[in-house]
Amino acid sequence: MPISRRKMLQSAAAGTFVLAPQVVAGQAPAQITNTQTGRKFKAFLRAGTGTTVEQLTLLPIHAREVVIRTEASAVCYTITGGVLRNNNAPRPQIPNHSGMGVVEAIGPEVRRVRVGDRVIIPGTPQCGVCYMCLQGRADWCQFLGTSPAHPVAKLANGTDVFEEAALGGFSEVMVVTEEYCCPVFTQVPGEELCLLGDTIGTGLAAAHNLAPIEPGTDVVVMGAGPVGMGAIQAARIKGAANVIVVEPIAYRRDIAMKVGATMVLDPNKEGMGLVAKIQDLCKGPTNNRYAGGRTWEAGDRIFAVPNGPDYTIEAVGGDQFEPKAEAGPDPTGILPIQQSFEFTRAGGHITMLGFSTRGNVSFPAWQFQNRGRTFHSGQQGGLHMLRDLPRYVKLIEKGEIDTKAMVTARYPLERTKEAVQAVADRTTLGAVITFPA
Ligand SMILES: [Zn+2]
Ligand SMILES: [Zn+2]
Repeated sequence: MPISRRKMLQSAAAGTFVLAPQVVAGQAPAQITNTQTGRKFKAFLRAGTGTTVEQLTLLPIHAREVVIRTEASAVCYTITGGVLRNNNAPRPQIPNHSGMGVVEAIGPEVRRVRVGDRVIIPGTPQCGVCYMCLQGRADWCQFLGTSPAHPVAKLANGTDVFEEAALGGFSEVMVVTEEYCCPVFTQVPGEELCLLGDTIGTGLAAAHNLAPIEPGTDVVVMGAGPVGMGAIQAARIKGAANVIVVEPIAYRRDIAMKVGATMVLDPNKEGMGLVAKIQDLCKGPTNNRYAGGRTWEAGDRIFAVPNGPDYTIEAVGGDQFEPKAEAGPDPTGILPIQQSFEFTRAGGHITMLGFSTRGNVSFPAWQFQNRGRTFHSGQQGGLHMLRDLPRYVKLIEKGEIDTKAMVTARYPLERTKEAVQAVADRTTLGAVITFPA
């Protein structure tokens, strides 16, 4: 039977692929010698109806995977429900979705990192070749959460163990595909760098990438949790004249003032007057509309949409648990989104950073049509991790980004559940699991 030229080329290509390992056999492929298969390490697991810290045995890694000795992993509020509730977990899993550490082994096809590199592992990968990466939206990289889908380790009884979000974090060892790795060449402590992989990095990216904040403008940040703190700092760095922060928790308002807020408001104290208060704060120094003033002749307040901030960054999110610190006015997180629309000036920009808030928001149709605002949303604040994280590292080294003030509690792996509880209670700002060197 005649074989077409195309078939011959295909089978030749397949042959090359199969033979490739033999070509480098003399060099002992890293996939076989450099994977640390069988390595013992400890991890915090969500398994069955609870949590536990177990010794695990590392499974072989795939060709594009990387073994990382974890230095630190910051607890994210998003995972509190998954960790602390006692529903039956379908399979043992290492929780969290960010971390940082040192590369200790790589598969034979890994190019982005080398053994010994320090790497930040953010919740958002960047492959550089998928459709969304090519649109300039690496934050929506289609590699997100897809690999490794296989178990990375075994329990002593042979049960497979998986990683949440394809990377985990609450573990002495992380196994990730190279698309998740961002090498950083710095001496900044791991407990600070790990914040760039999730919360603080999200706020920084949102204000740097999504919100086109210009110097001298008015910015409102709704929520001064770790995400909001990143946005506050980025707004300061971009030269905003006013950074008005709305936050119900007193100790968070204090930290916000230290890292870039020019004014803080308590939404519980302001009540339903919050919208008018913020618009009043942003009305500017003159009511002469022939000199840049914001008054509107028609008089009705509904027309007065030139008032209000130029940029609003909404970083509140809903409550998964009743907080032990001061609760905000709306546990669903919908009210702050609604208010953000109402007080932002016509033509202003609103950037939203919540994650999986449930419910609907409604706006007056005529304002949507005729006095609209520009909305921005994205995964992890629109982070382009390979481009942005090294920039943030330089700004930390320069003292422009304050990550020291963001780490407010440190826990060893054994006390991970306590750390997650503190984050769920909102009694600490930045809880980090740290690992001995
Ligand atoms: Zn997160
Ligand atoms: Zn991609």
